[in-house]
Amino acid sequence: MTDNRNPAPTPLHTLESHDDFVDRHIGPRDEDIRAMLDTIEAESLESLMQQTMPGSIRHDGGLALPPSDNEERVLDQIRSIAARNTVTHSMIGLGYHPTIVPPVILRNVFENPGWYTAYTPYQAEISQGRLEALLNFQQMVMDLTGMELANASLLDEATAAAEAMAMLKRVNRKNKSNVFLVDANCLPQTIDVVRNRGHHLDLDVRVCHDLAAELAETDCFGVLIQYPGSDGAVQALDELVSSAHERGALAAVAADLMALVMLKSPGESGADCVVGSAQRFGVPMGYGGPHAAFFATREDYRRSVPGRIIGVSRDRHDNPALRMALQTREQHIRREKAMSNICTAQALLAVMAGFYAVWHGADGLRKIAGRIHRHACILAHGIRKAGFELEHDAFFDTLQVRVDGSRRDEILRQAREQGINLRTEREGLIGLSVNEQTRKHHVDSLLALFDQASNDVLAIDAELGNDYLAIPADVRRSSSFLEHEVFGRYHSETEMLRYLKRLENKDLSLAHAMIPLGSCTMKLNATAEMIPVTWPEFSDLHPFCPSDQAGGYHQLIDELAGWLAEITGFAAVSLQPNAGSQGEYAGLLAIKGWHEARGESQRTVCLIPSSAHGTNPASAQMTGMDIVVVKCDKQGNIDLEDLDARIEKHREKLAALMITYPSTHGVFEEDVVTICQRVRDAGGQVYLDGANLNALVGWSRIADYADVCHLNLHKTFCIPHGGGGPGIGPVGVREHLVPFLPGHPTGLIEAEHGSNPAIAAAPFGSAGILPISWVYIRLMGAEGLKRATEVAVLNANYIARRLASHYDILYTGRNGRIAHECIVDLRPFKESAGITEEDVAKRLIDYGFHAPTMSWPVPGTLMIEPTESESKAELDRFIQAMIAIRGEIERVASGEWDAENNPLKNAPHTALELAAEDWPHAYTRTQAGWPVAGLKLDKFFAPVGRVDNVYGDRNLVCSCPPLEDWLEAS
Ligand SMILES: *Cc1c(COP(=O)(O)O)cnc(C)c1O
Repeated sequence: MTDNRNPAPTPLHTLESHDDFVDRHIGPRDEDIRAMLDTIEAESLESLMQQTMPGSIRHDGGLALPPSDNEERVLDQIRSIAARNTVTHSMIGLGYHPTIVPPVILRNVFENPGWYTAYTPYQAEISQGRLEALLNFQQMVMDLTGMELANASLLDEATAAAEAMAMLKRVNRKNKSNVFLVDANCLPQTIDVVRNRGHHLDLDVRVCHDLAAELAETDCFGVLIQYPGSDGAVQALDELVSSAHERGALAAVAADLMALVMLKSPGESGADCVVGSAQRFGVPMGYGGPHAAFFATREDYRRSVPGRIIGVSRDRHDNPALRMALQTREQHIRREKAMSNICTAQALLAVMAGFYAVWHGADGLRKIAGRIHRHACILAHGIRKAGFELEHDAFFDTLQVRVDGSRRDEILRQAREQGINLRTEREGLIGLSVNEQTRKHHVDSLLALFDQASNDVLAIDAELGNDYLAIPADVRRSSSFLEHEVFGRYHSETEMLRYLKRLENKDLSLAHAMIPLGSCTMKLNATAEMIPVTWPEFSDLHPFCPSDQAGGYHQLIDELAGWLAEITGFAAVSLQPNAGSQGEYAGLLAIKGWHEARGESQRTVCLIPSSAHGTNPASAQMTGMDIVVVKCDKQGNIDLEDLDARIEKHREKLAALMITYPSTHGVFEEDVVTICQRVRDAGGQVYLDGANLNALVGWSRIADYADVCHLNLHKTFCIPHGGGGPGIGPVGVREHLVPFLPGHPTGLIEAEHGSNPAIAAAPFGSAGILPISWVYIRLMGAEGLKRATEVAVLNANYIARRLASHYDILYTGRNGRIAHECIVDLRPFKESAGITEEDVAKRLIDYGFHAPTMSWPVPGTLMIEPTESESKAELDRFIQAMIAIRGEIERVASGEWDAENNPLKNAPHTALELAAEDWPHAYTRTQAGWPVAGLKLDKFFAPVGRVDNVYGDRNLVCSCPPLEDWLEAS
């Protein structure tokens, strides 16, 4: 402590070192760390780590990362990287379009930690805001696609199409065919991803240039049609869909939401499933992502829908309340039988797209789509007048102009010079897609490129006349959409701002309190890390733009991939997977590819411990591997005997072991090196789930013991969770597996694996949020990252020690230490007081906290992960709440409080309830709402009481209820 009476010390170097980011990122102050070390009886952070982590995996070599720097200088550096990207008007199309993010949404949602730091809405009572926003998204998708049911986002359009294929296979039970027909006019990246997925699921994916003809003579279980086609052609779907149905096949349609504003909805044409990207509804291109994909289908298939569905239920007081419905933890429940693998999705981007529809309403969207279409019509007319032919005359926004040779080169060159990107990869054609950002001057310039004489936009506009449409009459939209009140109420900015704020205020985010979700690593998402994300140089780049316009991105990608390789010790890291689940999938495919290349394609067995995260078996299932479960012992460690027996039994067929390290139980298993060695000795590969890397960075390099690993940048490397996405799940591999990493059909991945099939739509996945992790690593440096690991382990051990005299802590490792998280056992209280883990989770809301991870990996427990970013004061506040709740459980156990009518069972308490005339409880209002003194100064009220899950699933409603229902109820 400096003496307040004296002026600050003057030497420049001491003054300049003031703003050390590491001390901002890490919560506890130096004196706190000393006190906490005393509590847990450790001498230093160093010795704590040595007691905790087995020597066999420790890496003592340090990390070769650039030295840490302060926020101001790192932002300067990334600004100069951004300057190497060139923002142009991208008319490339192919599923990505420039859009305008309404400023009120940009600042109050996209750039607002109240929205972006929240977690997936597992605790419904403190997630009503984003649940409502996601319900708006679902309603918008249902209206525009004409389907009965929609989910609340998938990872991208290409994987959504692959999920559609898998679902159609599952629901089309009567049909025994394995053939899936894909129209060649689908987006190239969609075809690539679908074909790859299908291949590994043993489906026969056939790409058809004449889908109608092929359909007439092929038995198939499903088809995929793009609407409008990738070349922009607009054709009625009805005939294709009905001939598919006549053959006993089901039809999936990949549709463009903006086009659907003017086109007949696929639902009206009989489609069974409609997928696509909501990017052009106000979500920046970000050089490929993150964006929300949508998935809509028939009510009948509701139990087979991948990802999460938001549903309407009611709370304890019979008021409407929202929640995630049905199979919201599909992988955790179905595990090796899972047919899809979505954990982290794209919640924040779905929220933004839903708000875009709220902000514009049906009429606003009609104007935007109408302007896009009109510009396209004017271009088509002018270009035809100049003597060119178009490949097709029915379109919404995309034209293909026939032009060859030097004329083509010349037009493309001039367009580039004027800052316009066109679609160029089809011989003899130039493609152009009009978008929301296209203005009259762009149309002027383009017309001039084709014909100097006839570029008078207004003259052409007049010539076309008022009623002109390039959409055939039978494909025009006649049905209404966005008729629910929410899409008509918030069109003034004041109303919209307040609506956004009202929803934000219903949710508990990191801006309120710690979110100690085990396995989720809810650490600080520093503002300096977030700032570059919305710079146009990062947000406005098309993923398929010419490489020379993306020099900054390539530098960022190369540097970040290099640093992650250094941190993990791997030879290469692919940034394509846009969630952890996708990293697992890509990593297992690399293993599979390697075995096959060595002539060992019989190696198909994947060993997975029973404690594994649900995405592990789901990923393995999707690669077509055969899953064999390995037992865990009472300590939560892999049962070595069982492992040996399984290895022996499957020796010839062993492909891989998938383990999580530190284990999902939060301990460093002593035997990890032996385990890995035994698998390798038997010819298998070791896949390590690196979601828990926060306990390893700087202290252990995974490549020293495993062959492949995915990391979650949205856990360890500071990308915020966005209320359930976005995320990035890069996959790192050893040298021998590098040739088997994902590639991309655009050829934009310049590496030996560049021509491999893709596993995601964009070559570099969710590139738009890579700046976050880049800035984090630059700000922390090797020493800072290492210290973050130490404090993460310290914080977890501190909580475990402080709670140990009140609760049973399941699982400890060497020297009684845990890694970065701990599991509190609540099962004894079920017996003694009838109190469950859910009661404790909901009661924590009354104390102002988000519950830890509930009932995973062990039913009846809470798993607490504090991360390094939480201060000692916040940890103490949480510990105080947990201890107070323990006291409350005792009062129920002793019979002082009624077994049903007590603050735990009735939690969370709403403000309305606490203020009601009627108070039918033996405990007081203060005990209910302000059980500890700190709450008098700062109280978060749950907007609804405990939500009834069973009622919601029995009476599934996934659309917006009429507004009066909400008002009447409250
Ligand atoms: C979070 C997590 C995953 C899945 O990552 P997503 O990005 O949600 O797909 C996998 N394994 C473990 C142990 C995790 O904690």
